[in-house]
Amino acid sequence: MDKSQGRVTRDAAETAALPPVVTASGHRGLVMDEKLIFEQGVEGRCGVDLPEPPPVASRLGGLERKGPIGLPGLSEPQVIRHFTRLSQKNFAIDAGLYPLGSCTMKHNPRLNEKMARLPGFADVHPLQPASTVQGALAVMDELSRWLTTLTGMPAVALSPGAGAHGEYCGMVAIRAAIEARGEAATRKRVLVPESAHGTNPATAAAIGFDVDPIPAEAGGRVDVAALKAKLGPDVAAIMLTNPNTCGLFEAEIVEIARLVREAGGYFYCDGANFNAIAGRVRPADLGIDAMHINLHKTFSTPHGGGGPGSGPVVFSARLAEFVPVPYLVRDGEGLSLVEHKADAPQSLGRLKGFHGQMGMFVRALTYMLSHGADGIRQASNDAVLNANYVMARLQDVMTPSFAGPCMHECLFDDRFLKDTGVTTLDFAKAMIDEGYHPMTMYFPLVVHGAMLIEPTESETKESLDLFVDTMRALVERAKAGEVAYFRAAPRLTPRRRLDETRAARAPVLRWKKPVSALPQAAE
Ligand SMILES: *Cc1c(COP(=O)(O)O)cnc(C)c1O
Repeated sequence: MDKSQGRVTRDAAETAALPPVVTASGHRGLVMDEKLIFEQGVEGRCGVDLPEPPPVASRLGGLERKGPIGLPGLSEPQVIRHFTRLSQKNFAIDAGLYPLGSCTMKHNPRLNEKMARLPGFADVHPLQPASTVQGALAVMDELSRWLTTLTGMPAVALSPGAGAHGEYCGMVAIRAAIEARGEAATRKRVLVPESAHGTNPATAAAIGFDVDPIPAEAGGRVDVAALKAKLGPDVAAIMLTNPNTCGLFEAEIVEIARLVREAGGYFYCDGANFNAIAGRVRPADLGIDAMHINLHKTFSTPHGGGGPGSGPVVFSARLAEFVPVPYLVRDGEGLSLVEHKADAPQSLGRLKGFHGQMGMFVRALTYMLSHGADGIRQASNDAVLNANYVMARLQDVMTPSFAGPCMHECLFDDRFLKDTGVTTLDFAKAMIDEGYHPMTMYFPLVVHGAMLIEPTESETKESLDLFVDTMRALVERAKAGEVAYFRAAPRLTPRRRLDETRAARAPVLRWKKPVSALPQAAE
């Protein structure tokens, strides 16, 4: 690997020759091993000095809090240090390459943040009269125009709060359309390819549809013959991701759309992978009826612990009348929101308290306007180029699941680890020691030990080269029989291998004061 000319941060050979470090504090350099904030608290300590409030007559009708609220007693520097350290333990796209497939962890341009913080956007309240928020409504209107233009679809719902919520919105619209046709009792089946994101079948099932999986053909795409065999008068819809979660463009998508329509069904497209095709393909031209767009993936609004999602849904003319409230209309007074189902009888109703994630709308529109139509197209091109570069440079040592070229992400399986004793999980843990967030593991389920890598367009060639060289070095170690090295990874993190199953099944979400520390009951 390249030796850099920058300041050396560690002399690896010299460090290796020294005995292992055991510190008295438990800290390791700047990585602190500290107590929970509640354990750090000391009763009576406070970061602020406020005057005692004057006594007021309670208007809570006997519902006042009876005991102390239980906040830890801390000074301001204790609080600042605690949260600063926590933030430094978190991996983020601002810290390094984040190749988590299907998640489009791309750079969040700071211009977006600057715009979202403008007081006219940051300080508006959703209950303000429309006449006082015309600027904010204009942002929503302009964002709608970009989304409908990029997708070629006539209608859009901005309110869904994330991708899965968008799926729910789209599928409820499809159910409404089926009800309007008087076929609610018979059209109950939703076809979902085996490679689909788990949210697709979950959404269909949550709404009460029966989920019917469609197998993939050997090349990783939907088996059109198998799909044909499954079509019938009871099919409500297909839910398809394009490009799919194997990173492949569904080349037969126009034919698939035609077949589903001919059978009287609707075509829901999971648009989470829009970053591969934005500015190049208009979903309307593919025959799609509804598709959600993850603003927090394709249009760079922060996610993965960095901010709320936002999942607007675009609709074809066949579904446009069913869009949820609120939606924007323009009249003599300017822009306003149709808020109530009484004013929009065909609407599927309301999905969310207000109109959606305003901060994300501002960020996404800033991204669109600063990139321009040509820039969005360029971003998609570069995302696909980067994924193909990674695939091309790894395919001789790892095992790509399907022949390339791929779209914005490349899929490997664990055949290259056969007989090494190293699993996909071990390999991912070793990547953490190398300073990389692992790729998506064990998804999609259609290949064994999946490793789905999505570098995005944010990375430079040097960054991709370092990633590829690191992956190649790990592959070499695995093939050289260093199984113990992988089993012990990660070794350079504050914690090693956590029991993730137990953490999910039996989460401890609330700190409880140890019994010995409780004041002796006097009441
Ligand atoms: C991310 C993703 C979703 C779900 O989006 P959320 O915003 O996380 O709810 C659905 N499908 C695919 C293919 C995705 O990658």
